[in-house]
Amino acid sequence: MRAIEDLIKPNVKALTAYAVEAVQCAIRLDANESPYGFALGAPRLTSNRYPDPEAAALRRALGAKWSVKPQCILHGNGSDELIYYLLTAIGGPVLIPTPTFSMYRIIAESLGEGHIGVPLDGQFDLDMDAMHRAIGKEAPKLIFLSRPNNPTGNSFMFEKVIEIIEKADGLVVVDEAYQPFSPAGESFIELLPRYKNLLLLRTLSKIGLAALRLGFLIGDEALIASINKVRLPYNVNALSQEAALAVLENETQVEACISAVVKERDKLFAQLSGLTGIEAYPSDANFILFKLNTAGGLTAEYLYRKLIEDGILIKKLGGNNGISNPLDNCFRVTVGTKEENAAFITSMKKIIGETCRNEKSEDTQTDIGDRRYHRDKP
Ligand code: PMP
Repeated sequence: MRAIEDLIKPNVKALTAYAVEAVQCAIRLDANESPYGFALGAPRLTSNRYPDPEAAALRRALGAKWSVKPQCILHGNGSDELIYYLLTAIGGPVLIPTPTFSMYRIIAESLGEGHIGVPLDGQFDLDMDAMHRAIGKEAPKLIFLSRPNNPTGNSFMFEKVIEIIEKADGLVVVDEAYQPFSPAGESFIELLPRYKNLLLLRTLSKIGLAALRLGFLIGDEALIASINKVRLPYNVNALSQEAALAVLENETQVEACISAVVKERDKLFAQLSGLTGIEAYPSDANFILFKLNTAGGLTAEYLYRKLIEDGILIKKLGGNNGISNPLDNCFRVTVGTKEENAAFITSMKKIIGETCRNEKSEDTQTDIGDRRYHRDKP
């Protein structure tokens, strides 16, 4: 038999598996989940039958909520699976502004499809000159725009996204995973009838149902029917379909949790912005990007480890191979409950305070504790 290594495709060999942080922490603010969950009663289902392959009841309910026909909605085992289907059915080259959600690139690489990364501008918005150049040169079949963008938290300017949709001769996927947390009405859903090349991605993962793994692709009926051809049969299990329907029936409880997260996000942003050496970036999502100014002697790795010692896990961004990355010294913290956010801020203050004190005693400076760090863009 051939060596197993020789059987693996070269593009798969070159991949690094998507890493989910395995550190056990009491407070997990690393994965953009909702801190609020819903009791999932055991629905009365029999185990011997396959689930509804079409998830018809769920697509009907969501179609009514979003004012689109159920035939315009494709269901996925999380929106990750739908990104996979898009790349399987349409293929590359794929245009991806960077930094953004890493699965667009990882799935393109695992399927051997080409991808082009176009850096965002200094405000983390789309660099239109660079986008136009890339569209003209590479003719991408797919463009992924996460709006609000993970991990930067901002929403690309509405008019810029429209311009891209109008200029592209391929498909534009606006990933609205974090749309529920953005200012009211900030969605592209009403524009679907106007643009045949526009697709939207939605997920239930960020609004308290991450355990169910449910995502949806919305777009032109004929296009959805084509992408549906590569969907695996029974991709969404029966428990998830039933449980989602039960939770969505009570829309006010879902809305209340979203409002609570938005309120806590704005408070957390103000608190983070007030910390010495921290620059927080405004967010339309359920997380906040912030940058540590290391001029005060505190390194990103040290801050990350110290937070873990206090039982708090956040997401450390940036490169780890010595190559400079726009998100070096940056972190993404998910908005938790009031208590979790308070514990995070207390721990941050403690770690920053200790570093300032140590530095003060080591280099005999007297003003270090009060020093405001220089603020610059990552
Ligand atoms: N899109 C974006 C922008 C995300 O941040 C995520 C999750 N981190 C997803 C899609 C995937 O969500 P899920 O597979 O849980 O639906």
